[in-house]
Amino acid sequence: MNFKRILTVLLLGALLMSFAACTGEPEVTETEPVTEPVTETETETETETETETETETETVPEDTTPETVYAGMDSGIVRDGTPKKYFCLCFDDATQQDLKIIEMCKKYNYYDVTFFISTGLYGVDWTSGVGVSHVRFTKKEVESGIYDGFDLAVHTLNHLPLDQYQNNVKKVTNEIEKDAKNIYKLTGIYPVVMAWPGGDPNVTRQLMKIAYENTSIRLGRGTKSTHKFDLPTEFLWLEPTAEISEATLFSDFQKFLDAECTEDMLFFCWGHGYELDIYNSYDKLEKFIKMVAEAEGIERVTVSEFYQLFKDEIPAVILDNE
Ligand SMILES: [Zn+2]
Repeated sequence: MNFKRILTVLLLGALLMSFAACTGEPEVTETEPVTEPVTETETETETETETETETETETVPEDTTPETVYAGMDSGIVRDGTPKKYFCLCFDDATQQDLKIIEMCKKYNYYDVTFFISTGLYGVDWTSGVGVSHVRFTKKEVESGIYDGFDLAVHTLNHLPLDQYQNNVKKVTNEIEKDAKNIYKLTGIYPVVMAWPGGDPNVTRQLMKIAYENTSIRLGRGTKSTHKFDLPTEFLWLEPTAEISEATLFSDFQKFLDAECTEDMLFFCWGHGYELDIYNSYDKLEKFIKMVAEAEGIERVTVSEFYQLFKDEIPAVILDNE
C-alpha cells in the first residue's frame, strides 16, 4: 500500500468515525457519491403510460403471467407456530468485491444471501469518489452467472437517492420497477424486495407510498442499525440489526444466539463488498460467515424469503401512518 493510498484510507476512516460520533449512525452508511453522472434519460420514456394506471395495491408487473415466479417462495420453511430466530445477510451495490463474498459463502455452503444490484450502472467505476476500488460488475459479468444460486434484488436502476425525484411518481416507479424487470429478465425470478439507495436520510413516507402503490416491491431496507432482534412493523421501512463493519457485529450475533426465543426474532445484517477493502476485513467477514453458516438454532433466509414468510402478518406500509 503506497502512502497516498494509506492517507486516503485514513482520511476516509476519520470521516466515517466523526460522522458516527456525531450521529450515532453505524460506522459505515451509504457512502457512495450521489453526484456521479447517470443515464436516467434512457429510462424515463418507458413507463410514461404504465404508471398512470398502476395504482392498484396489488400491482401486477407487465411482462409477467400468472405463472411468474416471485423471489423467496421456496424457503422450505414452514411456520408452524413455533417461534424461530431468522437471520438475513445482504450486500449492496454489486461491486467486484462480491466475488470474494460469494466465494466465502460457497465455501460454507451458505446460499441464503441477498445481493442488491442497480442494473442501470453495470460496469460503472466510483473508485475516485469512494477511495477504494468501487467497480460494479458489467452486464456480461452478471449474465455469466456470478450470482447464480443467490437472491438478487433491487437497489434501483441508477442508485440515486429517490427523494431527488421530488415525489415524481413516474420517475420513482421507473427507478424501482425497471430494475426489478431487468433482474427478472436476467434470472426468471421477479424481485419483491429492495434496499433504499442512499440510505435512511433519503427515505420518506411519500416514497414508501409511491413504491407500494406503483411497484412490485414490498420490502425496503434502510441503513441504521437497531442492534435489536424485533421484526419490522412495516416492511418498506425495515431497519437492519447490524452492519458488517461494526465493532459489535460478533457480540450482537452472540446475543442473538444466546437469547431465549419466545417469539419470532430477526437478525438482519447488511454491508457492502467495498468495505472489505476499506477496513481490510476479508478475514473478519469470512469468520462471521462461517459462524452464521454453522450456527444451530437459527433459520438462514434470504431477504425475499423473509418477506414471503411474513407477508400476511407484516404490512408493507401503514398508509395512515403519516
Ligand atoms: Zn448502495
